[in-house]
Amino acid sequence: MAVKNKAQRIVMTETDMNPEALKKAGNVLRNGGLVAFPTETVYGLGGNALDPEASKKIYAAKGRPSDNPLIVHIADISKLSVIVREVPEKAKVLAERFWPGPLTMIFPKSVIVPKETTGGLDSVAVRYPSDRIAQVLIKEAGGYVAAPSANTSGRPSPTTADHVEEDLGETIDMIIDGGPVGIGLESTIVDFTEEIPVVLRPGYISLEMLKEVLGEVRMDPGLLITDAKIRPKAPGMKYRHYAPKAEMIIVEGNQMEVVQAMNRLSEEYRKSGRLVGIIAAEETKMSYHSGIVKCIGSRRNEETIAQHLYEVLREFDKCEADIILSEAFYTPQMGQAIMNRLLKAAGHKIIKAQEVLG
Ligand code: AMP
Ligand code: MG
Repeated sequence: MAVKNKAQRIVMTETDMNPEALKKAGNVLRNGGLVAFPTETVYGLGGNALDPEASKKIYAAKGRPSDNPLIVHIADISKLSVIVREVPEKAKVLAERFWPGPLTMIFPKSVIVPKETTGGLDSVAVRYPSDRIAQVLIKEAGGYVAAPSANTSGRPSPTTADHVEEDLGETIDMIIDGGPVGIGLESTIVDFTEEIPVVLRPGYISLEMLKEVLGEVRMDPGLLITDAKIRPKAPGMKYRHYAPKAEMIIVEGNQMEVVQAMNRLSEEYRKSGRLVGIIAAEETKMSYHSGIVKCIGSRRNEETIAQHLYEVLREFDKCEADIILSEAFYTPQMGQAIMNRLLKAAGHKIIKAQEVLG
């Protein structure tokens, strides 16, 4: 097998872009290549969405199951009608309110979108990101960029260009380094192929924010219940995603009890010879007496928790923790999204502090 060169890495910021480099990256995409780029949610691995061969390359590079569809990124609202058959009135209102931004909407696809891009489905997921580097790149690439998160399938999503390089540095053509992303969790996905819109993946835009605009909106039952018989509708949500190498357990309850319970568990695991990792909030990080303590962010600013979630999981992979104990984070706006990702990382292992304390 031919050894691929290291991906070319180009550094820029939204306020100081490199138009020449973005033109070049756009050409790489037009010619069927793969370019990783920053968005406001996480880094994306881009390929030309209308080119079935480019989509196949994306699946191969990530090791992603081929039934897990890709999101098509646009940077101009007029492009939407080219790739979808119909846009319900309610979706137009949502687009007006939240696009460009961390919102993905699913519609019946037009014939121009290959099945390779949609994982064999007859619908297509579309997002118009607000990151200005992403917008210029999408335009330079011809307007339609399929981009899943730029990580190896199963690893935590990338929130910095270093994370992308760790996973895909040897397999893709270019990495646009725009610094750490703003939000840190993937987009909210709303499915418009049913009568009542359905949230398939929670994100920065919460159910409450959607309700304000849409009135009626449901959560996919596969997201709420940890029953293996009920499959989430977004094929990607069924996998044990975002998984750190270590076993992970979430402890919920009131703050004082959680700290006590995690200290007790940590001590027991330590005595049995296991290296323990602890995911704590800024407010509690000094209260843990053993294990490797990492601060995920402040409960007073939930955005900091979302921003650091994947980074902390990656750090625990590096220090080879055997078991990770995490506080629960039911924060006001993004709590649903944060807990969705943590629960997936933990394979849904969550216990009540009181049960530990007896
Ligand atoms: P990622 O690209 O890693 O952000 O993941 C994209 C997510 O969107 C996965 O969970 C997919 O299963 C989901 N998705 C994309 N397109 C569709 C679609 N047409 N129908 C349902 N889910 C979709
Ligand atoms: Mg992903």
